[in-house]
Amino acid sequence: MPDGYARALEEVVAASIEPAAVAVDTEGRFPSGNIDALRDAGLLGLISATEVGGTGLGLRAATDVVGRIAGSCTSTAMIVCMHYAATAVLEELGPESVRRDIAAGRHLTTLAFSESGSRSHFWAPLSTADADGDEIILDASKSWVTAATAADSFVWSSRPVGAEGASTIWLVPASTQGIKVDAPFDGLGLRGNDSSPVSAVGARIPADHRLGDDGGGFDIMIGTVLPWFSLMSASISVGVMAAAIDRTASHLSATRLEHLDESLANNPVNRLRLARSKVTTDQVAMLVDDAVRAVEGDRDDATLRVLEAKAAAGDAAIEVTDACMRLCGGAAFRKEVGVERLFRDSRAAAVMAPTSDVLYDFIGKALCGLPLF
Ligand SMILES: Cc1cc2nc3c(=O)[nH]c(=O)nc-3n(C[C@H](O)[C@H](O)[C@H](O)COP(=O)(O)OP(=O)(O)OC[C@H]3O[C@@H](n4cnc5c(N)ncnc54)[C@H](O)[C@@H]3O)c2cc1C
Repeated sequence: MPDGYARALEEVVAASIEPAAVAVDTEGRFPSGNIDALRDAGLLGLISATEVGGTGLGLRAATDVVGRIAGSCTSTAMIVCMHYAATAVLEELGPESVRRDIAAGRHLTTLAFSESGSRSHFWAPLSTADADGDEIILDASKSWVTAATAADSFVWSSRPVGAEGASTIWLVPASTQGIKVDAPFDGLGLRGNDSSPVSAVGARIPADHRLGDDGGGFDIMIGTVLPWFSLMSASISVGVMAAAIDRTASHLSATRLEHLDESLANNPVNRLRLARSKVTTDQVAMLVDDAVRAVEGDRDDATLRVLEAKAAAGDAAIEVTDACMRLCGGAAFRKEVGVERLFRDSRAAAVMAPTSDVLYDFIGKALCGLPLF
């Protein structure tokens, strides 16, 4: 990422994201101030093309931004991740006016793929889109939508209107009549994420809000959303692990067993556990880095690397934050060290689609030469 943007990000993290993180988690509130600060720093238009007024940076910069934010406030990182993932689709297929608004930071977008019927199998929506003249009528029960009440639009999946294929993708303005956020979000982690269920009941959008071909949703999901979302999710997991290790190392060094006149860091078992966590984190970080290179270089193994990176990072984040909880003892259990929030936040990646277990199944199928779907 160019130095100017990296500096701007550091300033936003220090001035806004880090100070608000505990309250965002405790109160389970959407981090509006952080999103405003990121917008003011030009970071919401990071991947928008320069011809629509954006910064024109790519996947590498997006993974850097969300990974950096994640260690301070994972909720904010995931909101930005979903915004970038949906923006990647809109940059390819969306109307210029919306692309310009995103580039200027005037428009927050997100993905609305998961449904209560097909659950984490996002590639198989059950919701419908029916043609009525120049309009499309949407009916849906979306089970999770990050930034559900704050987003200006949803990049939305449905069954095709008439074509063959599993899905069609739409740009759905959040203000569309018939779109409703069904319940507030009260999660174990990512508590500021506003990841609510959203329903559509007879919601009408103009037919030209279709993104790509009718029935062409699968290619958009796999060709665009899968690499962008998976690698940003993996980078968030790496950011969470790195932050947990930093906090744990500080705690071990600073906390004393006074009767022995030594710190917790003097215990070799503690050092071993910490070192293993560090090795795991760095291994995963290198895998994520290689996966980004594979996508950017259009390498033959790019899809396999993407699947591996998300699975490895999601599961490693659970393992590493668990180790950090144990290392910091009761102090972590009582939330004194700040590791407990990361431990809770870390658990989302493995169940966010494609989930870790689905990814392992895909990887196994790829290795055995079987079709993935
Ligand atoms: C904080 C958060 C934010 C989210 N934000 C969004 C969002 O913005 N947009 C969006 O579209 N979705 C979002 N999601 C939804 C997410 O992507 C998943 O769809 C959702 O978490 C799956 O939960 P579920 O209960 O439906 O899982 P289920 O599908 O019921 O899965 C339950 C378990 O079964 C396993 N499983 C299911 N099928 C298979 C299989 N074929 N092989 C092996 N194992 C399998 C899963 O791995 C999982 O462990 C979000 C989720 C979370 C937690």
